[in-house]
Amino acid sequence: MAFIYYGTKKAFIGIDEVMIKCPACEAHNFADVMVNSIYYHIYFIPIFPIGKEVNIVCQKCGLRRYDLPLSESIFGNINELNRKFRHPWYTYLFVLIVSAGFLVGILV
Ligand SMILES: [Zn+2]
Repeated sequence: MAFIYYGTKKAFIGIDEVMIKCPACEAHNFADVMVNSIYYHIYFIPIFPIGKEVNIVCQKCGLRRYDLPLSESIFGNINELNRKFRHPWYTYLFVLIVSAGFLVGILV
């Protein structure tokens, strides 16, 4: 019986201090923001990244919010965060292998 093990996994990218609005404090405070890359895998081989997720801890009241999307409604300027927190190279492993195979196919 064929059983394909696949799904999504998280890879830690980095952590930073960001000024964001805390729903508990109802004010802008610095918060520790931990960014994860979410990627598809088949048998633990990364296929491609599908998005980013953040865990936010308010430095003032300690409110913890987990598994939030990296969205403009939370951060305002997500471009800067997207530049700073890139998907780890290995989340593109399958794409890299296929591209490499394709290139070899052209060249040989
Ligand atoms: Zn707070």
